[in-house]
Amino acid sequence: MRLNNLPQEFIDAKPVLDTIKEAGFEAYFVGGSVRDTLLGLKIHDVDIATSAYPEEIKHIFKKTVDTGIEHGTVMILDHGQGYETTTFRTESGYQDYRRPDKVTFVRSLKDDLKRRDLTINALALAADGEVIDLFDGLKDLQERRIKAVGNPNERFHEDALRMMRAIRFASQLNFEIEDATLAAIVQNAPLLAKIAVERINVEFVKLMLGKDVKKGLEPFITSGLYQYCPQFLKHQQDLKDLLKLNQITCENEEMCWTLLLFALHITKPAAFLKVWKVSNEMIRHVEKALTCLNDLKQEQLDALSMYHAGEKALKLALAVAKLYQPSLDKAHILADYQALPIKNKDELRLNGKILLQETNLKPGPQLGKILNEVERQVVIGQIKNEKTKLLQLAQQLNATK
Ligand code: ATP
Ligand code: MG
Repeated sequence: MRLNNLPQEFIDAKPVLDTIKEAGFEAYFVGGSVRDTLLGLKIHDVDIATSAYPEEIKHIFKKTVDTGIEHGTVMILDHGQGYETTTFRTESGYQDYRRPDKVTFVRSLKDDLKRRDLTINALALAADGEVIDLFDGLKDLQERRIKAVGNPNERFHEDALRMMRAIRFASQLNFEIEDATLAAIVQNAPLLAKIAVERINVEFVKLMLGKDVKKGLEPFITSGLYQYCPQFLKHQQDLKDLLKLNQITCENEEMCWTLLLFALHITKPAAFLKVWKVSNEMIRHVEKALTCLNDLKQEQLDALSMYHAGEKALKLALAVAKLYQPSLDKAHILADYQALPIKNKDELRLNGKILLQETNLKPGPQLGKILNEVERQVVIGQIKNEKTKLLQLAQQLNATK
């Protein structure tokens, strides 16, 4: 099969392939960009595989960076662009179920494609647009199938992360997992426990951000794979309940975690997310959104809880709530938020400094308490946000305490 209209990214990179070929080696586009082009999707990074060894690549091109030379990867810098170029290689060993003990550079494209995870990821594209399909990846693309290259059992045994990749592609592409591949996931699921959390996290988030999340989430649950992810063991029913949602559409990573923690009824979100190695900044947003979401569920979302959540967490909470209750009037709630007298402490016309200057209050916990009470009354609309009024209130509060 030959592709006629190559995306611009390939056209831009073509001179790199041509130069390698002129030096007497083979070079192809490989991986996700080939798969996505054939699916008519937008591509991001263009990966190149070549029969030239890293030293040979460095000899051919003046400007290169050793980005992963021990694995055969060299970045070629060409007209302001960087192209990751990896020497054809075979892998062996895999004694730890995640990484090959040995990488061997080879001259054969077929050997390189053979070590790849899925048939749809084992296609190569020549500079002239010819698609090299040695493992029936085109048929699987056409029939929307996730299938391991070669013996799935061996492939998952070599690298357990491939099981997570299989289900995340099912979700991203809205594909079905082929029977033997799924059976091998069931059989090898416990090996996922050997994989670093950070790598599982990446695949899980991609699954949750997919086009058809249920397509990935369902086999994730039924295969038992979920049990070998951090913290999921006791949550089979909660995860199954997620599948009952009409649609699972997450706009960003924060939303994935907020939805997940809400669905799993997690009461200590920070502890849960830390195990998943989620960043502290993300944890803060998710925590706030989750509080908001629980308030909403208990019909206790009021001015104060919206104020403490802030706009970002409120929007996150509403996006998740809408998955559970499609009729939810988000605009109405957001309008209530926008109408709050103040959105944060800086907008309060009173602060510690003013209090110290203009009253006889002394620094200490009492001052903090008074300020908090003033802030609360402004947020709920009990008093206008005017300096003289707030000072008066502060003095009253001080006198009664
Ligand atoms: P994405 O669009 O998410 O980047 P991708 O298929 O390009 O998808 P990458 O992680 O960028 O995924 O990997 C590039 C290619 O390397 C894959 O298409 C696949 O051929 C191969 N590959 C990646 N990870 C593995 C793995 N764990 N085992 C075997 N082959 C892999
Ligand atoms: Mg990629």
